Amino acid sequence: MPHSRFLSAPAGRRAHAPRATSLHQRRVRLIVLAGSGVSGGVALCWAMFFAFSGAWWNVALDLLAVAATATAVWLVQRDRLRAASLLASATVYLVVTVSAGWLDVPSPELPRTMHLFLLALGVVCSLLMREEAPWLRHGAPLLCLFTYAFFACVDPRWHTVLAIPDPVRAAALWWDQAAALLMLYLTVHVMQTDVAERDGLETELRDALLRGELLLHYQPQVACDGRIIGAEALVRWLHPARGLVSPGEFIPLAERSGLMPALGDWVLDAACRQLAAWRQDPGSAALCVAVNVSASQFAQPGFEQRVLDILRRSGAEPRQLKLELTESTLAHNLEEVVAKMQFLSRQGVLLSLDDFGTGFSSLSYLRRLPLHQLKIDQSFVAGMLAAERDAAIVKAVVGLGTSLGLDVIAEGVETEAQRAFLAALGCEKFQGFLFSRPLPVAAFEQLLHRPRPPRTAPAAQSAAAPAARAARREAAPAPPAW
Ligand code: C2E
Ligand code: MG
Ligand code: MG
Repeated sequence: MPHSRFLSAPAGRRAHAPRATSLHQRRVRLIVLAGSGVSGGVALCWAMFFAFSGAWWNVALDLLAVAATATAVWLVQRDRLRAASLLASATVYLVVTVSAGWLDVPSPELPRTMHLFLLALGVVCSLLMREEAPWLRHGAPLLCLFTYAFFACVDPRWHTVLAIPDPVRAAALWWDQAAALLMLYLTVHVMQTDVAERDGLETELRDALLRGELLLHYQPQVACDGRIIGAEALVRWLHPARGLVSPGEFIPLAERSGLMPALGDWVLDAACRQLAAWRQDPGSAALCVAVNVSASQFAQPGFEQRVLDILRRSGAEPRQLKLELTESTLAHNLEEVVAKMQFLSRQGVLLSLDDFGTGFSSLSYLRRLPLHQLKIDQSFVAGMLAAERDAAIVKAVVGLGTSLGLDVIAEGVETEAQRAFLAALGCEKFQGFLFSRPLPVAAFEQLLHRPRPPRTAPAAQSAAAPAARAARREAAPAPPAW
């Protein structure tokens, strides 16, 4: 998986990956808030101290640090975790380096202490940047450690107007050393907990597959007239202690630990069994079920044969199974991907391109792939009523799909205004909280069998509204679906 996708979730990030808050995101949030709070508070105290002694350059420097840490906290509140963690790390690095070089000038009697904070900062950076690109993931901690070594071994003797007088440094000597080492201890402890938790979760996920703790929720896919024509199967983990765990948390874990093929097979198997069960009831016999397939899962040798085996074993109809792929699936070995897709398509299995427009692939692959559907990514749907560019992208995707003879479905439809806008553009299928959140199978069936009021002509433009109201009532008691 690409590394830089974990924080503010820019478009273009995913291989069927996290939208919900993961363990790592929660940890980043906590570290940035705590780090910014402590650094901002300390900088403010120093600013007041220097203001009393009339050292205005130092005051300005400290106030800059306070402003930067306050901005980092503001970014965290706005869920822009990546920007927040980069800003907070850069600010603390600059403040500590400037302080060690120009403020905390060593004398024959008193050593320098400020640079000790770079050790803790190095550990913090390796935690915060864990999912960044390698140059940043390794570069940031190494920069901290080399800067530490520089100040520990070299005495640059930059005597400046900013230098703190020795009596003040003497008073802070023990406090600084103790604080820096305590921070180092705490950050190492957090890192140890992080590794232990991830190891634990990985083992638990392995057991969860065996103990049957995974389950599927189904989110309706709706036609223009409000009819439920299918569902997307979304996996959940009912953890005995933590409750429902989001796929955003455990799918990346499964990818890292090599569990994805087993997990993916389980999802396919469960979805196909459900399809076969629904075939027994005329009310649900025509439903189509969409199953997410990650890039690594699709790349597994023999994946296409396994799909056929699962279909055969379960008794489900291939033409009612839709595999949702992302553009990242197409990023490597396109020939092999095309061959697998053609094979599956020949067997009747439908293929949909999920999160369309968020990847980096060129449009030329659309000519070669046996696709049945384009799925407009929810980030464009969320922005299209406010941002002209999002609206233009949505319009272009609907036009592109329609002129290529493909089905187009919009996901993440949350409001009637969005639905109406999409329908006006010619999009005929929808999925989103407006209709229903993903539901456990029993609640989904209840929603499916709920009688719909007869359509009248003027109501046609808001045909989905009854389903939406029903879905919202239905969704209320259901477990949270992220
Ligand atoms: P996705 O395939 O793009 O699925 C849509 C996600 O958007 C789901 O999140 C769904 O709950 C959420 N969603 C649906 N409608 C709305 C809406 O109106 N507003 C908003 N804000 N969100 C909406 P979920 O279930 O947390 O799944 C997240 C991602 O995890 C999925 O994104 C998919 O990439 C991955 N995933 C889920 N199940 C599986 C699976 O069985 N296999 C694989 N490989 N990936 C899966
Ligand atoms: Mg999907
Ligand atoms: Mg999607």
